[in-house]
Amino acid sequence: MPLIIITGLPTSGKTTRARQLYSYLSERISSSSSSSSSSSPPTPQQQQQEQQPQPQQQPAYRLHLISDTTQSISRTVYDLSPSALPAHVRSANASEKDARAAIYAAVKRVLSPRDIVVLDGLNYIKGWRYQLFCEAKNARTPSCVLQVGCPVERAREVNQRRLVRRGEATTGSNGIGEVGGGGNRAGGAEGADVASDNGNGDGAGRGSEPRVGGEGDDIPEAGSSAQADGDGAEGDGNDDGEEPYEPSNWENLVFRYEEPNPMTRWDSPLFTLVWEDDEAQTRQVFDKIWDAIAGQGKKLVRPNQ
Ligand code: ADP
Ligand code: MG
Repeated sequence: MPLIIITGLPTSGKTTRARQLYSYLSERISSSSSSSSSSSPPTPQQQQQEQQPQPQQQPAYRLHLISDTTQSISRTVYDLSPSALPAHVRSANASEKDARAAIYAAVKRVLSPRDIVVLDGLNYIKGWRYQLFCEAKNARTPSCVLQVGCPVERAREVNQRRLVRRGEATTGSNGIGEVGGGGNRAGGAEGADVASDNGNGDGAGRGSEPRVGGEGDDIPEAGSSAQADGDGAEGDGNDDGEEPYEPSNWENLVFRYEEPNPMTRWDSPLFTLVWEDDEAQTRQVFDKIWDAIAGQGKKLVRPNQ
């Protein structure tokens, strides 16, 4: 397939789930390739064959984890506040567009029916998810979306903890106390020239294809750093060394977040994991994802549909 697009609010646990999914898929891939060899006792002919040198058995899929971290993309690319922009930058979200182009190139480089790509990132723009969906279709491989659900307050706390750790959590100047307005929508998302209609009225465009922000064709073929597949082995826990978002950047991203809509082709099939989901529940969801991309539920993909 298979492209698995992870989406969720900033600091909501996406990378944690992406790593869990990566190790789950590694196991599934290796067990499915070893179980494809017969479990019945070998016939004399098979025994004879075994004594001859065999070519290494190829696993059915190769697995890739692509994220902002693997592409060395900083959190600041999402920051639209004027103070965060160097004077020469073309528009408020030019750096974010460049970052998306780098991610797009990294995905495109490896995507094929034999490569499973776990794309860990905000992936918060529906036009962007549509673009990825089309890319998977072109590669004749299915795609799905895994939404990581987390209450806004909890996600905010995680970012604040990271800011504290970075030594910037002095109240006042960095604005931790300034943000708020509570609830899901905070801050001003001024001028986000993103790929589709922003935020409000999300289900309204149900079924209609989102605009791809004028960047569809000029996305470079290559030009990102070398493919940096994750090993999924980094430690978790609170001190995970991830960079925090500046508070205004974080609030703005929450404001701009476009929830996936399972009624649209590009956001389906849609799977969800919430913060509280334990190992058993997580495994169930991962089993369903596997089924959709490599098992019984796998659909044949024809590019022109
Ligand atoms: P994101 O990639 O969305 O920024 P992370 O995966 O880096 O978020 O998670 C942020 C923090 O929250 C990490 O310290 C991680 O250990 C913790 N965390 C994430 N998901 C969970 C969860 N389901 N239960 C407990 N802690 C979690
Ligand atoms: Mg992350």
